[in-house]
Amino acid sequence: MKHGFKDECGVFGVFGHPEAANIVYLGLHALQHRGQESAGIVSSNGERLFEEKGMGQVGRAFKRRNLLRLKGDHAIGHVRYSTAGRSALVNAQPFCIDSFKGEIAIGHNGNLVNAEALRRSLEEQGSIFRSTSDTEVILHLIAKAPQGDLETAIVHALKQVEGAYSLVFITPGKIIGVRDPRGFRPMALGTVGNAHILTSESCALDLIDGTFVREIQPGEMVVITTQGVKSYKPFPAAPPQQCIFEHVYFSRPDSFVFGKSVHEVRKAFGRELAKEQPVEADVVVPIPDSGVYAALGYAEGSGLPLEFGFVRNHYIGRTFIEPRQSIRHFGVKLKLNPVKRLLEGRRVVLIDDSIVRGTTSRKIVAMVRAAGAREVHMRISCAPTVGPCYYGVDTPRRKDLIAANHTVEEIRKFIEADSLGYLSLEGMARAVGGAKEFCTACYTNEYPVPIPGETAPARVAAPHRTR
Ligand code: AMP
Repeated sequence: MKHGFKDECGVFGVFGHPEAANIVYLGLHALQHRGQESAGIVSSNGERLFEEKGMGQVGRAFKRRNLLRLKGDHAIGHVRYSTAGRSALVNAQPFCIDSFKGEIAIGHNGNLVNAEALRRSLEEQGSIFRSTSDTEVILHLIAKAPQGDLETAIVHALKQVEGAYSLVFITPGKIIGVRDPRGFRPMALGTVGNAHILTSESCALDLIDGTFVREIQPGEMVVITTQGVKSYKPFPAAPPQQCIFEHVYFSRPDSFVFGKSVHEVRKAFGRELAKEQPVEADVVVPIPDSGVYAALGYAEGSGLPLEFGFVRNHYIGRTFIEPRQSIRHFGVKLKLNPVKRLLEGRRVVLIDDSIVRGTTSRKIVAMVRAAGAREVHMRISCAPTVGPCYYGVDTPRRKDLIAANHTVEEIRKFIEADSLGYLSLEGMARAVGGAKEFCTACYTNEYPVPIPGETAPARVAAPHRTR
C-alpha cells in the first residue's frame, strides 16, 4: 500500500453559534498537536459554503480576513499532518464538493486501508481526483450514491470503505459526525451555550468554555441540525478497536478519550512500568513532553524522586515531524537541553513514551552522559513498536522501526544505555483497564482490519528487558 496516504489529524465542528468560524479556529488551536502541516475551516450561512485553508499551524494558516470571510452559524475545521504524502494546499482539508446533492465538505481523521483500490475503480468509471488524499474517495463515493438524502449517501459511501475514520461533514443545513465501526480514532460531542460541538478531543471544549456531553460511539453517526442532535447506528456492529497509542502519546493529557482521562492512563502506564521494570537509581527524569506523565507514575510507583532534568525549547516543532532526516537529527538538540546540576554523578532513569527509530533516544542518552550522569537507564511506557500503523497514526515503515528488527538488548546497545526496559502489553492493558477494546497492532502486528500487501510476522514474545 502507498505510504503517502497516511494522516495524523484533528477534526472539529460547531452548529448553531453566531461566531462559528471563530469557535472552530479556537478549537483547532487546541487540536494543533494532531497535525501542523495545514489547517482549514469551512462554514455555512445556510445557503452556501465558505472555505479557507492555509499551510502551517493554525495561527499562521488563517489571517483575520480569512476568518471574516467564513460566514454563518455552523462550521467544521481540520488540522493535518501527513508524512510522505504531498505537503501541499491541495491536500489540506476540509474538502468541498458541489454535487447534485448540494454542497458538502468533509474533514477526516484516520486512514482508509482500501482507498487505493476504490480510487482506481472510481477513476476507471471517470472520476477525476484533485488530491492524493484517501479522504477524497469518500466524497466521490457520496457523489456517486444512488438518489436519496445526504445521510443515506454518506452511509452508502462509508459501507464501501475500510479502515479508520472519524469524520465531520458540513452542508448548508447541518453538520454530521461519524466514527467508523471499530472506533479507531476518538471523537466527542459537546456544547457551548446553545451550540453543539464535535471534536477529536475533549481538550478543545475546555478552551471554548464548552461542556463535554459524551463520546461519539464506534459506528455512530450524529446529525446536528436546528432540530438538535439525532443519533444513528447505520453500520453492522464490530468489536471496538480504539487506538491505544492515543493514550500512549497522541492525545493531549488533558483530554478524556475512550472513556478515560489521558493523563491518568499515562500515569498508570508509568506505575505499571515501575512494577515491571524496576531499577536501582537516584532519580527519575522524563523526556519532555511525551514522557512527563509516565515519569510521574514511575516515580510514584518506585518511590524515587522525580526531577525535570531536561528543559524543552517549545518554539521548535516536534522533531519527528520534520520532513528530512538531516534536520530531524539536529532537531533533538534544538529541542532539549539537559540540566547538568540535576544529572551530574547520578544514576538516572529516563522515561519516554516510545522508541520509534531509536535515533532520539540514542542522542538523549549521550546528552545525559555528557552532562555527567553515572548511569543511564531507559524505561519506555509502552511495548516495543514492531509494526507501522495503517489506521491514521504516522509511523515509519517496518524496516525503520528499530524494535521490529532488533532485540531489546540490541536496542540497548544502539542507544548506549546501561539498561532498557519496556512496559509489556499486559501492563498496558492493566493501565487502560483491559485491552479488549483497543487496537494494539503497532505492538503485535495483529491488524484488526486486514491491510492489502501486509505480511506481518506474528507477535514474537520477546523479553521486554535487558540486564
Ligand atoms: P525515535 O528517534 O524515532 O525513536 O523517536 C522517538 C520519539 O518520537 C519519542 O520521544 C516519541 O515521543 C516520539 N514519537 C513516537 N511516535 C510518534 C509519532 N507517531 N509522531 C510523532 N512523534 C512520535
